[in-house]
Amino acid sequence: LADRLQNTIQRIKGKGKVTEQDVKEMTREVRLALLEADVNFKVVKDFVKRVKERAVGQEVMESLTPGQQVIKVVKEELTNLMGGDESKIAVAKRPPTVIMMVGLQGAGKTTTTGKLANHLRKKHNRKPMLVAADVYRPAAINQLQTLGKQLDLPVYAKGTDANPVDIANEAIAEAKENHYDYVIIDTAGRLHIDGELMGELQQIKDNVQPDEIFLVVDAMTGQDAVNVAESFDEQLEVSGVVLTKLDGDTRGGAALSIKAVTGKPIKFAGMGEKLDQLEAFHPERMASRILGMGDVLTLIEKAQDNVDEKRAKELEEKMRSASFTFDDFLEQMGQVRNMGPLDELLDMIPGANKMKGLKNAQIDEKQISHVEAIIQSMTKKERQEPSLMNASRKRRIAKGSGTSVSEVNRLLKQFEEMKKMMKQMSNMQKGKKGKGMNF
Ligand code: GDP
Ligand code: MG
Repeated sequence: LADRLQNTIQRIKGKGKVTEQDVKEMTREVRLALLEADVNFKVVKDFVKRVKERAVGQEVMESLTPGQQVIKVVKEELTNLMGGDESKIAVAKRPPTVIMMVGLQGAGKTTTTGKLANHLRKKHNRKPMLVAADVYRPAAINQLQTLGKQLDLPVYAKGTDANPVDIANEAIAEAKENHYDYVIIDTAGRLHIDGELMGELQQIKDNVQPDEIFLVVDAMTGQDAVNVAESFDEQLEVSGVVLTKLDGDTRGGAALSIKAVTGKPIKFAGMGEKLDQLEAFHPERMASRILGMGDVLTLIEKAQDNVDEKRAKELEEKMRSASFTFDDFLEQMGQVRNMGPLDELLDMIPGANKMKGLKNAQIDEKQISHVEAIIQSMTKKERQEPSLMNASRKRRIAKGSGTSVSEVNRLLKQFEEMKKMMKQMSNMQKGKKGKGMNF
């Protein structure tokens, strides 16, 4: 989706005057891009209509920068399509707050149950308890117990012959007794929606009266995810959606249609298999990501989660004053490694997906240790002043680190690019400060 839209955007951005013909062409491209991304047909139609109306309206035509104004309209409408920032989680008047996870098999319910518990504890100091109410497969119970062990959180489970409604009720009673303030119920799924499954979920719902019902859907299934969301919502009235596997979804179609079709907000996004890879879903940031404007805010939050705040400030200062050295780079690398896969981070940096060289230079673990070896083979002076580097120094460093001169060259080049990018980022960050955050 991003590529096609970005080309269109580049073309229209600089225009001093936007004609109706321009708008027509642009909306046609946007329409095609959305349909290609597997966005619901009706959603696309309404979207294009709204963009068209606004784009040929006064706000654009009479503005000083009509090209940019049109893009602003597209971005705003994309944001509206995905709803407001609503990633709040209910808090019951009397604890525990009960959250029920529902969805098809393989959507990511069990994983998300673990992620959500981790999120509640880490970000909100809550004491969650997990409940294994998917009793049909022993493996499903084990899976949740394993997650509970990893997180060091209690999992309420019984044998495969127990009744899910009883399990849920008993778990809630136990949570009350032991002062757990959240109970997250992992339920069974099927490959397809069927009456029996819905009947069971309905029963659990009626009995435990959950404060939230989160529907977990797999973003990679595109239009199917939207259909699934629609029927689950019809039958269970879910309170929010968790979109998983957004890390593998290049098209963004499901994210764009779910709110529009079901009226239910996407509250969280799963960005990988690991337990800390759950993010609050922010429509505006997603819209920026889709339009290739990058997602600097999420990147900064990730950095804040992983980086010592004081050191981060010092480093930021260094970046701005361009006195960032290889020693800082070495330190930074350790921290970046904690943030997640590099290609994922690059996707969040505006324009980084355009920098082919950078993207292809995907850094794997082996490469990282090479990089570390190279930097460690530099003298103190060379680390501070890479401009000193000449052919004989490079040969010495390559030899000392057990790498090659071309690897050393590559690192020097990447270092320069990274410096440039960081500078760009810190400039953007300055412009975007002061936005309040909740969940
Ligand atoms: P369930 O059947 O709905 O409980 O699904 P599971 O939680 O067992 O997940 C099914 C598979 O999807 C597992 O291999 C998970 O690791 C994987 N998965 C879940 N969420 C994500 C995500 O956000 N990103 C990626 N890449 N994989 C995920
Ligand atoms: Mg499961």
